Amino acid sequence: MDLKNKRVLVVGLGKSGIAAAFFLRDLGARVTVSDTRSAHALAKDIPALLDAGIMVESGGHGLLTFRRQDLIVVSPGVPLDTPEVAQAIAFGLPVIGELELASRFLQGKVVAITGSNGKTTTTTLIGKIFADSGLPTLVGGNIGLPVVELVEKSAELVRTQEAGPPAARKDDNSSVWNILEVSSFQLETTVEFRPEIALVLNITPDHLDRHKTFERYAAAKAMITTQQGPGDFLVLNAEDVPTQMVAAKTRAQIFWFSAVRRIKQGAFVHGESIFWLAKEGGTPEPVLPVAEIPLMGSHNVENVLAAVCAAKLAGIASASIRATVAAFHAVEHRLEPVRALRGVTYYNDSKATNVDATLKALASFAGGVHLILGGKDKDSDYTLLSPLLRERAVAVYTIGSAAEKIERELAGVVKMESAETLQCAVASAAAAAKAGDVVLLAPACSSFDQFENYEHRGRVFREHVAALQE
Ligand code: ADP
Repeated sequence: MDLKNKRVLVVGLGKSGIAAAFFLRDLGARVTVSDTRSAHALAKDIPALLDAGIMVESGGHGLLTFRRQDLIVVSPGVPLDTPEVAQAIAFGLPVIGELELASRFLQGKVVAITGSNGKTTTTTLIGKIFADSGLPTLVGGNIGLPVVELVEKSAELVRTQEAGPPAARKDDNSSVWNILEVSSFQLETTVEFRPEIALVLNITPDHLDRHKTFERYAAAKAMITTQQGPGDFLVLNAEDVPTQMVAAKTRAQIFWFSAVRRIKQGAFVHGESIFWLAKEGGTPEPVLPVAEIPLMGSHNVENVLAAVCAAKLAGIASASIRATVAAFHAVEHRLEPVRALRGVTYYNDSKATNVDATLKALASFAGGVHLILGGKDKDSDYTLLSPLLRERAVAVYTIGSAAEKIERELAGVVKMESAETLQCAVASAAAAAKAGDVVLLAPACSSFDQFENYEHRGRVFREHVAALQE
């Protein structure tokens, strides 16, 4: 892809948009960026962009800006039905995302992880397993480092490999691995993206405010395998029906994972242990005892199973996988233990931003849960929480703009208190909880009504919990 002197527009100045703009500039493209936020709101980024010779359009998108381009790179935060973007697509202009752009330049092989929940946990774990086994590994994508920023690093790693002693040298650059967390929004704007190993952890309703229908959301996730061929691998959750359906859309070799039954080929739990079955009819190989997984909840067993598949498909020894899993602790804000006070334990699962993640969090405890719910609604159906709330929860404390809807949908299910703020919710829950109970922030909503993001919400929760008197 030669972008020298080409006119390229980057839409959306988030982290990956800014990284894409500089990347394109370095490739010699004539770059413009466009964002609907005001120049004031973008003040901290604009000077560096202008200094780099990048044109900046702020406070809205100009239709003409969108017409005069050879390529448009859309950020994951910008819906494709944004009128200017939709029109560019209708005019036949090439519109791609940062993931697609970067993957055309990335060196080495790619493991791509998608799913409604568990991406960050699984991506982090896979990154550690690969790195601990001695493979040159980079981790990025939706998880933090934009993929364009991995391009130079991957090239460097390949060069290091090639310059290494002959014993360590490979015929090609196949031993460099890029472990990428990819969201539905990133996948939606891919064209040629072809990971060697693709994982779909689960597909449960999320982001319906953007994707409109569950079918469209599931279709975006399935794009992870669109370009895969018979030499590639697709890892799917055998216990999740929408994920199973992705199997019909692939030409790759399919491997399954299941926490409840033996599958044809892939990773599964049998008795007390996780096994790997490399091929149908083969002999399962024990990888690790389930009890050695330090993470809470059966959903995390699924994440480990998915990681085992990726690692085994890359040829990593079971002993090495086992050692890394045993030493792996919860990623911050994901069912993270915060404090034990008077026999009550406090958990921060601020990243539970949809109903399924909250269900998984609830299911991780036998009972006695004081659950903090609420934030910004994403057109979610909270009634799905009812059965498990009846079983495991003592009370629900609602916060944020979704509170009223949650209270309406869960009326009569469980004791409910309208706490409004996180501080009040922590105080009320702490006052009500008895020894042996759990206070859990797993709000099933995004955070943007009262907080900057879920990390901010999680930190505020930890602060209020830390401030509780002994
Ligand atoms: P993502 O990057 O997909 O948002 P995270 O690993 O950050 O995934 O986890 C998001 C939320 O989902 C957290 O609340 C976490 O506890 C929960 N979770 C983690 N793994 C799973 C899973 N396999 N299924 C359902 N929920 C999960």
